[in-house]
Amino acid sequence: MFRPIVSSVLRSSASKNVIKSSSKISLIVNGTSSMMINNNNILSIQKRGIKTLDFGGVKEEVIERSDYPKDKYQAIFAKDTLAMLGYGTQGRGQALNLRDNGLNVIIGLRKDNKPNSSWEKAKSDGWVEGKNLFPIDEALKRGTVIMNLLSDAGQSMTWDQVKPHLTKGKTLYLAHGFAIAFADQTKVSPPKDIDVILCAPKGSGTTVRSLFLSGRGINGSVAVYQDFSGKARERAFALGIAVGCGYLYETTLKKEAVSDLTGERGVLMGMIEGAFRAQYKVLRDHGHSPSEAFNETVEEATQSLYPLIGANGMDWMFANCSTTAQRGALDWAPRFEKALAPVFEKLYSEVENGNEARRTLDLNSRSDYKEMLRKELDEIKNSEMWRAGQVVRQLRPENNKW
Ligand code: NDP
Ligand code: MG
Repeated sequence: MFRPIVSSVLRSSASKNVIKSSSKISLIVNGTSSMMINNNNILSIQKRGIKTLDFGGVKEEVIERSDYPKDKYQAIFAKDTLAMLGYGTQGRGQALNLRDNGLNVIIGLRKDNKPNSSWEKAKSDGWVEGKNLFPIDEALKRGTVIMNLLSDAGQSMTWDQVKPHLTKGKTLYLAHGFAIAFADQTKVSPPKDIDVILCAPKGSGTTVRSLFLSGRGINGSVAVYQDFSGKARERAFALGIAVGCGYLYETTLKKEAVSDLTGERGVLMGMIEGAFRAQYKVLRDHGHSPSEAFNETVEEATQSLYPLIGANGMDWMFANCSTTAQRGALDWAPRFEKALAPVFEKLYSEVENGNEARRTLDLNSRSDYKEMLRKELDEIKNSEMWRAGQVVRQLRPENNKW
């Protein structure tokens, strides 16, 4: 209970360096006492440092929002123009957060006046052509920190256009290690006289934005690939917080890329859709209604159990369900683990050996990619399970318009 209290105290007034509090606290940061509350209930931050915490027995350093208050990152980037290339969900979320955090941000996009294009989306969010919205080349010219958040395939396709603008002393910022981890395929090879840094928020760009707007922050990883300035690490941490992260852990570009591709193909999306489908089908094959199959497979998971697991952990979940559910789930978990472990091993090796990157680049670079994708997504949307889901969602009292 101790840490959250300290964190929230810090978050609320970190920029003031002086914090009022009603309890007596001292916190050890990397072996040195960095904050103390005196008898007047004033907490003074004597010297902030990166905190080392115990993650289930393994010590790791973390960077928190309180380490980089607004005035600190504004000072670090006071002379910079942050050029955000791309306005997908992640580009949009990060760019808007940076703008709201008072940094000098411009957007670089291919100009396309189709209603759904990134260019039009940016305009509707208030970016103004010629002021802070430019064609990619112009943004590259003006930017000192090039935030390349084009799609991963797009980063490879446009590399010859981007590279000449990465002149000495500039910074290349990425949100995914993909381009560099699989450089043999993407051909992305930054010049040696720039900084190359990464911050990869661990969630959708939509969440990057919504958490920021509600005063919260997404977790993210941060990495330095090249430190030409000698300040790359500091700048990576500061930018990670400025784009909206709540806490950051350090990694490498390769590790970020491999874990990210594994996660999204695995438990985060690929495996979960596979597991939903498999269980739904078994229930339907045995005569259960769509309502019953969907509620027992998806709705109860997303509406009740997953949020509880998120809030309290799996041990709590096992402890706070019926004894019948508890016994069965504890017994079946190892069976699923055994069945799934070889699939995850295979997945990891396909990611690590670059096959997944190759497939992504090949398919996502095709001119008919969006058309192919639409067909695949329509198939999912039109499946009985997800059509049943549409009805179930409409029946949630807050959505019920009937
Ligand atoms: P997308 O992957 O959806 O990419 C979309 C953007 O790239 C659009 O602005 C699109 O412009 C542009 N683009 C694609 N190809 C080209 C090209 N050849 N020339 C010019 N522009 C191009 O964007 P995201 O925001 O989802 O991802 C951006 C980066 O962030 C990626 O590295 C991704 O891995 C990373 N990331 C994404 C997360 C997420 O939540 N989505 C999470 C964490 C990291 P147009 O509209 O004109 O086609
Ligand atoms: Mg990803």
